[in-house]
Amino acid sequence: TTITDEARIALDTLSGRAAGLFSAPSVRLGVTGLSRAGKTVFISALVHNLVHGGRLPLFEAQKSGRIARAVLEHQPDDAVPRFQYEDHIAALVKDRIWPDSTRAISELRLTIEYESASAWNRMFSAGKLSVDIVDYPGEWLLDLPLLGKSFADFSREAFEMAELPVRADLSREWRALAAEAAPDADADEMTARRLAESFSAYLKACKADERALSTLPPGRFLMPGDLDGSPALTFAPLQNLTGERPRAGSLAAMMERRYEAYKTHVVKPFFRDHIARLDRQIVLIDALQALNAGPAAMADLERSVTEILACFRPGRGNVLTDLFSRRIDRILVAATKADHLHHESHDRLQAIVRRLADRAIARANFSGAAVDVVAMAAVRATREGTVKQGKETLPVIIGTPLAGETIDGETFDGKTETAIFPGDLPEDINAVFEQPELASKPAAMDAPVRFVRFRPPKLERTAEGVTLSLPHIRLDRALQFLIGDRLA
Ligand code: GDP
Repeated sequence: TTITDEARIALDTLSGRAAGLFSAPSVRLGVTGLSRAGKTVFISALVHNLVHGGRLPLFEAQKSGRIARAVLEHQPDDAVPRFQYEDHIAALVKDRIWPDSTRAISELRLTIEYESASAWNRMFSAGKLSVDIVDYPGEWLLDLPLLGKSFADFSREAFEMAELPVRADLSREWRALAAEAAPDADADEMTARRLAESFSAYLKACKADERALSTLPPGRFLMPGDLDGSPALTFAPLQNLTGERPRAGSLAAMMERRYEAYKTHVVKPFFRDHIARLDRQIVLIDALQALNAGPAAMADLERSVTEILACFRPGRGNVLTDLFSRRIDRILVAATKADHLHHESHDRLQAIVRRLADRAIARANFSGAAVDVVAMAAVRATREGTVKQGKETLPVIIGTPLAGETIDGETFDGKTETAIFPGDLPEDINAVFEQPELASKPAAMDAPVRFVRFRPPKLERTAEGVTLSLPHIRLDRALQFLIGDRLA
């Protein structure tokens, strides 16, 4: 990190504050999580509910009728793609299909016009708050530790991870190719490309693997954004580096230069221009998928939450992290898709997330921002009911499974509503966190959660013919924590 980064962030912060004196106050809300965690669905549902006056009883400003209206406005950053809200809502509401997931950074400004709760605030506040929502892949966030690592460190760690038994089979091809590449050989573009492609294929295979392996950097190898194929992404770790300066013109020198370019031109600007300016952050996690895959996957999820929280920790000696993490004062860790469970299990899911976040906070040695957790569904695709089975009455969830989903040998057509007994989460949440070595499934969860993916719901209409906003579970609680205090 250079002094220029520091100066630029300080200047940006100052000019941002100065601009804030003349325009409506704003809050920058970061939305992140690994791919498929639910970022796109969360932002779409949040905006739709605010713009269309959704049912948000736990969002105080809305409940007390102090919100006059919420409208989309021109975003402040012209160089950042706009979050395609209208397309995503058309998919969700009109076609009842899930929208395209996050592939890169995007932004959306939502301005809320409100009346302050206290007479004092009413005198001094503008009665307007702009929420700048910044959607970005969690994979990119996990690049932060690279800033402190040399190419030799990065290479060594990459091979250590790749040789671990859980990854050895997935990384075999790349390691075989890398074993042939002598660091001191003459630099050659084709060799660099083959190595980069093979390394990137291995990282993607880890991601796709059902063992839910944790995400490894570099993040753009998984989510290239607009950098696909650029030289800054055409590098890979090398074996047998001597630790000395590589010979000019060698493969090692070329790879090292590109690795440094990746840090300078990709990682640093991303943190400086985007992460350093955030005020609030929500981290979405797919806890249900991990729960279903067993304790090893839970341990892995905990590891990735630890890594993500560590990125928001005021770091010692790292100017970039020092500067940006001081600004973020609230972080919400949210398990979304709770509509796959009956409401009796929602509190258990939340307790599991709390335990996971507490342990991640302790492990990441995190402090400096208020951290809360929630189990929610940004879009509730199911309703609840009961089914009689013999003498027993079973709680079920009812929804339209996506075409092609199967359960108990039955394949769905995407049109038929079906009741599914989803299973319960264990009352004793310790069972979920058992040592991964001991069992592949937690003992208390002999019937794991049964999963089918549902279509997005039909919007309800009231008796007066008013169409309601997208249904959700506890989205209002998330909103209250993230921006409620700014509307007081
Ligand atoms: P992203 O990669 O983080 O942007 O993930 P998305 O928002 O695209 O979500 C990935 C998938 O998870 C969606 O296509 C849905 O199938 C599912 N999903 C996300 N949020 C919800 C939710 O609140 N309820 C349900 N039932 N499914 C969800």
